[in-house]
Amino acid sequence: MSFPVICPVCKKPLVFREKTAVCENGHSFDRSKEGSVNLILNGSASAGDDPVMIAARKRFLEKGHYDHLLFAMKEAMKDRVFSGAVAADACCGEGYYTNALQAAFPEVSFYGFDLSKRALRYAAKEAEKALFFAANISSVPISDLSVNILIHVFAPVNEKEFLRILAPDGVLIHVFPGKDHLMGIKRALYASARQNDEDSGISDAFEKVSGEKVTKILSLDNESLRDLITMTPYFYRTPKDSLEKALALPRLETETDFIINVYRKKREE
Ligand SMILES: [Zn+2]
Repeated sequence: MSFPVICPVCKKPLVFREKTAVCENGHSFDRSKEGSVNLILNGSASAGDDPVMIAARKRFLEKGHYDHLLFAMKEAMKDRVFSGAVAADACCGEGYYTNALQAAFPEVSFYGFDLSKRALRYAAKEAEKALFFAANISSVPISDLSVNILIHVFAPVNEKEFLRILAPDGVLIHVFPGKDHLMGIKRALYASARQNDEDSGISDAFEKVSGEKVTKILSLDNESLRDLITMTPYFYRTPKDSLEKALALPRLETETDFIINVYRKKREE
């Protein structure tokens, strides 16, 4: 198996050692105490790095509130894994899905990347095997055609890079919110709650292989509903008094509504 992560300077394969990741030209990148590597050359790896949001998301996911999504992702992946396969989790955050999927499929090598160095430190700390690095989705340090399974959960898409790194038979597993996702939260925050558009954002450069909807009503205690609100953009967009009223609710029921689409690259006829 060739190593799919490449040096952001010279594009040669990058080998992860105990304390550094190095290429054959001697470009060397320090690994954090937890094991993640910053491969962003210019600018700071700090976007999406809000510590309050990251801690809320970590706590919420670790309670298993979205494990129905995780279960469905495993189902979507299970016929596509093989020994030596490379899986990449684009915008992996704290690596909750990356590490759980790696544990479910030990024969696959998982790589997670995100803009946020802080989130990646959590991801690497929990990692048994998966490797994590900071990268910008507009310039991913992964070699061409090297990814067999590309996972993308709730984040902006960069199709150009996805098409470049996906192997010819590779699949993109794309998770995004369905129309009723978090309606209970929206009803608590806003006078009129609008449904989501269910727009995948994926163009016809990809061919859809399968699509599935995963729904479940969550009944949340105050800590979990606070965490859920904090991990969404509503936390920053909602007027202060509505936000505070919702954050003080003792319990809240809300829909979760996920769409899991599996795509492959469209083949030339
Ligand atoms: Zn290099």
